[in-house]
Amino acid sequence: IFILGIETSCDETSASIVKNGREVVSNVISSQVDLHIKYGGVVPEIASRKHVELIIPVIDQAVEEAGMRLEELDAIAVTYGPGLVGALLVGVSAAKALAFTIDKPLIAVNHIEGHIAANYIQHKDLEPPFVCLVVSGGHSHIVYVKDYGEYEILGRTRDDAAGEAFDKVARALGMGYPGGPLIDKAAKDGNAEAINFPRVYFEKGCLDFSFSGIKTAVLNYINVQTQKGEGYKVEDVCASFQWAVVEVLINNLITAAKLKGVSKVALAGGVAANSCLRSEFIRASLNNDFKAYYPSPILCTDNAAMIASSAYYRMIKGKVSDLYLNAVPALKLGEK
Ligand code: ATP
Ligand code: MG
Ligand code: FE
Repeated sequence: IFILGIETSCDETSASIVKNGREVVSNVISSQVDLHIKYGGVVPEIASRKHVELIIPVIDQAVEEAGMRLEELDAIAVTYGPGLVGALLVGVSAAKALAFTIDKPLIAVNHIEGHIAANYIQHKDLEPPFVCLVVSGGHSHIVYVKDYGEYEILGRTRDDAAGEAFDKVARALGMGYPGGPLIDKAAKDGNAEAINFPRVYFEKGCLDFSFSGIKTAVLNYINVQTQKGEGYKVEDVCASFQWAVVEVLINNLITAAKLKGVSKVALAGGVAANSCLRSEFIRASLNNDFKAYYPSPILCTDNAAMIASSAYYRMIKGKVSDLYLNAVPALKLGEK
């Protein structure tokens, strides 16, 4: 089964063809990062307009690179939420038009479910059940993946997402956008124990996160050091901040995996590309006898291959959509 996936939920226009949910035949990703850099973040209206410009060429390229004809596709899949409504609508409209034209099923995919499915592409042997830490620009979830398409959220952020915290701290340090990769790089030359930033845990048994406090703590530290005339080492701030975030993420993930009695744990989402998170994840998994799975960096950030993979598992369960499909900007994981 060949599925063409389309992803336009934020600032990446992407189209990909995946065979049987696991094998990437083509994966075209056009990032708009350069367009949004000067604003320090994604501007929704600009993102939508760019998606309109790019969607057809990106789909064409994905089909061409696969060396296939549109008629050879078995289904069209698209991210219908969560994300920016104007951006989502571009992908949803294109997918509906294409599905109608070639008379093949349309499959609606949740973007976060897609992030989790990136692991199926990377690891051909990975099957549920497992516990996955999904950390991205807008989400920080600990998800129990009971079966394909069956999720239980064990913990979530109560305020900022992990990626959002990285981006905000980078902005406070005047480092630019997107902040995650920049902090990751700078932290390599810093001391993670230089500054003791707060780690937030809730009552026993609760696996939720809170990252707005640490962002404020970093801002306060910068201000105090500046006022005292002592200054600070950017690399140390990055390393200490990153370590504090990673420690909480991994501790709660391991607790969740033990709670569910699974033998496998996984990472997903843009922040899963973080080198400190990955190494700590591997270390903690080894220590606790869990088998560890994570996608390569290109499959961590937004891409359509993960959407096509997810769609395969929906399709074989008969979960197809009709042409009335609409974008759902605040879609929750596990919702219809
Ligand atoms: P969501 O998936 O929640 O809808 P999104 O699609 O915008 O949000 P992703 O594309 O999955 O988010 O991830 C982008 C986020 O990942 C950004 O916040 C970015 O800073 C972060 N990120 C990317 N690489 C790294 C890294 N190496 N270290 C830390 N954060 C990173
Ligand atoms: Mg993006
Ligand atoms: Fe994403």
